[in-house]
Amino acid sequence: MPQLPPFAWILIVAALVVGILAGHFGWGSRWTRRMGRLHADYLAGLDYLISEQPDRALDSFLKLMDTNLDTLETHFALGSLYRRRGETERAIRVHRNLLSRNLAPEHREQALLALAQDYLRAGLLDRAEGLFQQVSDGTRLRGRALEALRGIYERQRDWVQALDAHRQLDGLGMAPPLSVAAHYLCELATYHLDRGDVDEARHLLRMARREAAPFPRAAVLRAQIAERAGQMDLAARLLTWALELAPKLLYDELAHLLRLAGEGGRERVLVELLRRAQLRAGGDFKGLVYAALALSPTDALGSLREPIELVVAREPTLLAIRQSAPQATFEQFAAQVGAMLARAESYRCADCGFAARRFYWQCPGCHSWDGFEACAIIKLR
Ligand SMILES: [Zn+2]
Repeated sequence: MPQLPPFAWILIVAALVVGILAGHFGWGSRWTRRMGRLHADYLAGLDYLISEQPDRALDSFLKLMDTNLDTLETHFALGSLYRRRGETERAIRVHRNLLSRNLAPEHREQALLALAQDYLRAGLLDRAEGLFQQVSDGTRLRGRALEALRGIYERQRDWVQALDAHRQLDGLGMAPPLSVAAHYLCELATYHLDRGDVDEARHLLRMARREAAPFPRAAVLRAQIAERAGQMDLAARLLTWALELAPKLLYDELAHLLRLAGEGGRERVLVELLRRAQLRAGGDFKGLVYAALALSPTDALGSLREPIELVVAREPTLLAIRQSAPQATFEQFAAQVGAMLARAESYRCADCGFAARRFYWQCPGCHSWDGFEACAIIKLR
């Protein structure tokens, strides 16, 4: 949320307070009768705001607030405004103040949810988790609480609980795509694989494929299992299949695939990948050439010459590099571009713009799944 200038904030809170007063006392004769008592607190609150003493202002306003139906919404709006501004301590005060009153069950749930959101925003995950669990036991706000819990378990990398929340959300028809559940299962499979429990990893990968198929991440992990078992051909086939499904993995996995192919097979594998990429309509041909250049496979450079020249002819930046040093050999040019690509950021999150040199299934910036796209950009400077 954009930062509001101080005067705008004062106006918003003043408007809210006027709303509270109007809602609570009405604008008729009751209002005028009670103004005498209210006058001092209201003016004191406004004075604190204007003199930038927001905590004293909040004290004054909380004193004014009662929790009849007219003022509840104002309470929630004020708390939400504080949270959005990042003033979580004040938001927590507002919502705790609400919860100290005698509320109807539905309003108590709403206040618990709001307080849990305050804790989450403040980074107090344990407290937020406890309150969200409490709300998820009810029926009215169960989906919103489960969705928040799913996010917390993801942040804690507690994939078993995240999967459980996903399944409960699925029961409510509110789950994210099934591929997210498949990612949780792949995270768990990786955990077991790292500890040498291959059977459990295989079992989890089978479950992942039942959630979402085809699922390239599961194929990459199955390739790892095959490689550990010495089944290099199977590993190479699985990895090739994963790269066909998700060409964006090329920057991360091409080196792995060429390693599996061994010294003698690298050129053959590259030529085959290029041939298939050229047949496909998508834009992965350029990505493949870039990924191959970044690896600088000198033994396969002969086979790469034609594809590289094709890409250079279409890319103004590459063409400029080529023309800036016409005396350079093709090998020198390829080495220069390869070094630039090896330094470049190769991936960017389509959701939030987070850029990275390596691939992430879950964006470290915005935590969305499958948002990373290949985007090697060669910069001249
Ligand atoms: Zn992102």
